[in-house]
This record gives sequence, structure tokens and C-alpha cells, in this order.
Amino acid sequence: MGGKRDKPSGRVSNRRLLRQTAGLFKGHRLGVAAIAALVVITAGAGVVNPVLIAVVFDIALFPTHVVNGHTVLLPVNLTLLEVLVGIMIGITIVTGAIGVLQTYVTNRVGQRVMEELRNRLYEHLQGMSLRFFTGTRTGEIQSRLTNDVGGIQSVVTDTATSLLSNIVTLLSTLVAMLVLSWQLTVLSLAITPLFMFYTYRAGRVRRQITMQAQESKAEISAITEETLSVSGMLLAKVFGRGSEEVVRFRKENHRLANLAIRQEMIGRALFAVIGAFFSSAPALVYLIAGFVIAGSHGTHTPIQYGTIVAFTTLQSRLFFPIGSMLSVSIEIQASLALFERIFDYLKMPHDIVDRPDARVVPADDIKGDVRLDHVYFRYDRGTFGPMTEPIHRPAAPTPIANGHAPDENDPVPNEIRRDWAIEDVSFEVKPGQLAAIVGPSGAGKTTISYLIPRLYDVSKGALLLDGMDVRDYTIASLADAISMVTQETYLFHASVRRNLTYAKPDATQEELEAAARAAFIHDRIVALDDGYDTLVGERGYRMSGGEKQRLAIARVVLKSPRVLILDEATSALDTTSERLVQAALEPLLTGRTTIAIAHRLSTILAADVIFVIDRGRLLEQGTHAELLRRGGAYAKVYEQQFQGGRVEAVCEDGMVLASGEVVAAAPTAPAA
Ligand code: ADP
Repeated sequence: MGGKRDKPSGRVSNRRLLRQTAGLFKGHRLGVAAIAALVVITAGAGVVNPVLIAVVFDIALFPTHVVNGHTVLLPVNLTLLEVLVGIMIGITIVTGAIGVLQTYVTNRVGQRVMEELRNRLYEHLQGMSLRFFTGTRTGEIQSRLTNDVGGIQSVVTDTATSLLSNIVTLLSTLVAMLVLSWQLTVLSLAITPLFMFYTYRAGRVRRQITMQAQESKAEISAITEETLSVSGMLLAKVFGRGSEEVVRFRKENHRLANLAIRQEMIGRALFAVIGAFFSSAPALVYLIAGFVIAGSHGTHTPIQYGTIVAFTTLQSRLFFPIGSMLSVSIEIQASLALFERIFDYLKMPHDIVDRPDARVVPADDIKGDVRLDHVYFRYDRGTFGPMTEPIHRPAAPTPIANGHAPDENDPVPNEIRRDWAIEDVSFEVKPGQLAAIVGPSGAGKTTISYLIPRLYDVSKGALLLDGMDVRDYTIASLADAISMVTQETYLFHASVRRNLTYAKPDATQEELEAAARAAFIHDRIVALDDGYDTLVGERGYRMSGGEKQRLAIARVVLKSPRVLILDEATSALDTTSERLVQAALEPLLTGRTTIAIAHRLSTILAADVIFVIDRGRLLEQGTHAELLRRGGAYAKVYEQQFQGGRVEAVCEDGMVLASGEVVAAAPTAPAA
């Protein structure tokens, strides 16, 4: 309110925030105008009764008449008294009713605004790219959507109206006071600065504590989200870290509890200060009135009885709005910080969106030719501000071969850090082909697979589907044409049916069962308690690994995409499950382009083309036979690891194969 600007985080000016906040009410102009009118009426009407008190006392109850300089008391004017009392009661009832109406309109507008804000925030987050989610804690996002939006709710519904109401109350009260007695008005105003000082100070501290409490709540949200989820719990149990998590939680929880105590105490202290002013102010009025009357020596009474009574009533209408305006201004400041956190999210750009001239291509019209044309890609840092820095994952060091000289042409020989996650990769997968991408962990296989459906956009070069840049398709077209089976199967806490039909909401029961049969999971599903309506636990933890994978496969079968990206699970399944998953996959691969991040030897052998990736670059490509003939990195590994039937060993030049999985490859000159 004052000219002093307080920047919560120093990034966005309050004025801009206020403008943005006001923008939230754009669609509710009529409601806002109605609220303003009602507030002015109720607040203004509130001053009438105290003024009437003076009239009741001095004209109706104790009418006086001055005779020869002496005041003579006249009989009670009953008729006038009846009228005045009638008016007083009438005003109370009418303002009460208007107050109820005002509360209704205010809440209606306020709640709609909040509803729209939450919707906007959720929709905006839905449109964020994967990049944002890999760099932001889930709990943090949830906290902004619930705690922060909840935190500004009161501002939106109450604060603005109470501010207006207070201004009107204050002004009307001041006018009434001045009309009644300027001396008493001066007295009342003289003690307000002290009162203002205390309220303002208390409010400031409260605001700081509110901010800290909000941060603490977000932290607790994040901790619980991280640790009380199934995966977090699993990790904590496996590593025996449960007690440390408890300590971490206790610490933060303790902080929150202390903050809550301080918040409560400051509120109580403020209440006490206001209370003291409220009760001592009338006493001071009596005192000053006494002095004024005594000073007049009874000849002419400058202050009448009614005035004194009316004044003490008016005084409470003075302190209350001042106090509440001070705390409101601080509340607004505090919630501006919350608004800022929310607008921060709303402002975040959607980096992967449809181009204006993007084409809608029906999935049936897509043949499934996938081509990478000199693709470079880098995981940028800091696109979404400091809160959302991507989690730094150091690239896996490339094992140096014993006596194997690093390639001279390699611009980043054997360095942990590398400039590009994907560097100058070109290859083509023809429609209907099965391509296997192999390479050590951290090579960039997953990254390549993310680029195809535009989970990320290439930094340089182009990725083409049927000869057209993927960025020229609408995202919806790409989503229709391309599907992914990821390593980790994500299932909703919902029925098997809902988990399956997620891929195709209008699927019939027949289609559902056909897909489940194709994925060898139908029999398992019907054996469950409620068949297709059985709830799978949170993230499918009530299913075995193999079953989950087969469910995920059935989901993709149902969708039947033109291009399938398959990230083979590295987690070992028992032989039977493994065979079932393998059997489920086979029909899925036929008739569509499949790009598999291959960990199974069977997939590698079945592939029409194999791409060997290391440190973001394509080392070799060709069929299994071609690569063997070439005698490069792939051939060495294959000869040493698979020929002899051994599936678990570390070979000399650093290429490691574990259970048929290419875990790390030696650096070799790129093919051709
Ligand atoms: P692969 O699938 O072959 O194991 P990835 O494609 O997952 O390898 O990773 C390639 C490189 O990119 C690695 O160095 C990895 O650390 C890095 N990386 C992967 N995801 C991210 C991310 N979200 N932010 C920053 N770097 C990442």
C-alpha cells in the first residue's frame, strides 16, 4: 500500500504481479463490480448507527434546553425515540442481509478464480516437456498446485474486499467523528501511530514466517513424495536408510511445528495489543471529555453525553480497519510471493509445441521410415530457472582398453564430460524394420529414443519420419503414430481395464482381450479376483515384473502404433517370465518399425540393423552378419562373449557383457 516496494524474491516487481493477479479476475468484471457496490453500502451504512446514538441520547433520551446560560433537562421524546430505534434496528437487519449477499458473491467469484487458476496451472504443467519433469521434484510441483494456490485463496476471496471495506469504514468514521467533536477526533488519531507501529511490525514478522512455513511445507511434501512412494520405500528399505529418512523428516517437521508456534504466538500478541487499544481508548475519551467539560465551567457544554457514547462506539470502527489494513497489506505482500511462485510456473515456456503450420497426419498414412540426419542433442541446464535444474547425471566413463590408444580424431578423448548427449548421429530405419540400438550405459540410447516422439527436440540436425521433420507434424499425430514400451512399466492405481484402455479409450472388450491374448496376459488377468476390473496396486506393484511388462505390451498392442520404441528391460526376469515377455513382444514387432534399445541377445540377433552407440556417437551400423565381418567393436564383443556360450564376463578391451547385455563398449573409430 505504502510507496515502499517489497520484492519477495527480487525478480518480478510487485506492480507487475498485482497486474497479473488482477488479470485473473478478467472474466468476472460484473461480479467484482457487484462486490464493490455491496461493500461500499455495508461499510458506509455501518457509520449511521453510531451517529444515531448521539441523536438518541441528546435529542430523544435527554433533550436539553439552555435557559439563561443554564442547561435544563426536558422530558424524554418518546415518539422520536421509537422512530430512531426503528431505524437503528432496520439498518442492522438490512446491512446484515447485504453482508450475507456480499459474502456469497465474493466467495463465488473467488472460488471460480481459484478454480480457473488451478485448471490453468494443471493444463500448463501437462504441456510441459519431459525436460521440466526430469529436473523438478514431483512434491515441489504438487505443493505449488495445492499449498500455494490454497495459500492465496483467502487473498482472492477475502482480502481485496476487506481492504475496500476498511477504506470506506475508515473514511466514513473519520467524517462522523469530525462532525461530532474535533477535539476527541484529534485524541483518537493521536494514539493511532503507536497502534499502527505494533500491528505493522507483527504483520511483517508474520509474513516472513508464513513464507518459511510454506517452504517447509513444500519440503515435507517433497520428502514424503520421495520416500513414501513404493520406489522410494523400496530404496530406503534395501539400503536400510529408513531411520535416516525419519531423521530428515523429523528435522523438517520440527521446523514446521516451531514456525507454526511462532506464527500463532505473533497472532496472539497482535490480538492482545489490539485488545488493549480497544479497551483503553474509550477510557481516554472519558478522561479528555471530562477535562474539556470541566474547562468550560458548566456555562456551555462543548461535548454532549450522546457525543461521548457515540464516540466510543466510533473509535472501534477506527482501530479495527487500520489494524486490519496493515495486516492486509502484509498479507497481500506475503501472498504476492505465492502468486509469484504460481506465475513462475505459468510463465514457463512450453518448449515442445506444434509449429503454426504443423501437419495433422493420420496414423494410417504413416509408413514408418525413421531417419536421423546429423542429429546433435544436449540436455540444457537451467531452462526452467534455478528450481528446476536438470539432475546432473555424469556420463559413464568409457573404459579405456588395455593398451588401446584413444582415437586421435576423437575430439573428447576419454573425458567424463562431453559436450553433446548425442553428437552427429545419422541413420535410417526403413518401414517395418527392427533396429537394435546397442551400447554402454550412458551412451545416449534412451536419449535417441526420446527424440523420435519429440519428448525432446534435437539441438541440431533433423529427425525425419517418412521424410518429413518430426517438428512439422502435430504432436498429436506423432503420439498417434509412435508408441513406447519403457523399461519401467507405469501402471495407474486403477483397474486393469482402465490401464489398458488408456492407449485406446474406445476399445471394445473383444479388442481388449485380443490385445491381452497377444501379450500372453489374458489368462493371468481372468485369473485375478475381478478379472479385467481388478485394481492393480499403486504403479502396478501388485503385479510381478513380467506381468507388468506384458500389460504394458498389451497396452501398446491395443494402440498398434506405426513406430514402436522398445526399451528392453535390463532387470532380469526369471526364465519363464522372460520367455513370456519375449513371446508377447514378437507379434508386436511385426508389421511396424521397431527401434529397440536392445539388451537381449535374441533381439540383437533378430534385428534387421544394429546401431552401436558410444558416448553419443554412432560407432558402427549393419546387420549382425555385416558387423561380424567388419571385425569392429561389435564383432569383438560378440566373438568373445557369445560364441563360447558365456554370457557373463569382462573382456580385455573393456566391452562388458552381462547376461547378454552390452554394458560398456571400448572406444573405436566411428564406422565409415
Ligand atoms: P543410455 O540410454 O545409453 O544409457 P542416456 O540416453 O540415458 O544413455 O544418457 C545419455 C547421456 O545423457 C548420459 O551422459 C546421461 O548422463 C545424460 N542424461 C540423460 N538424461 C539426462 C537429463 N535429464 N539431464 C541431463 N543429462 C541427462
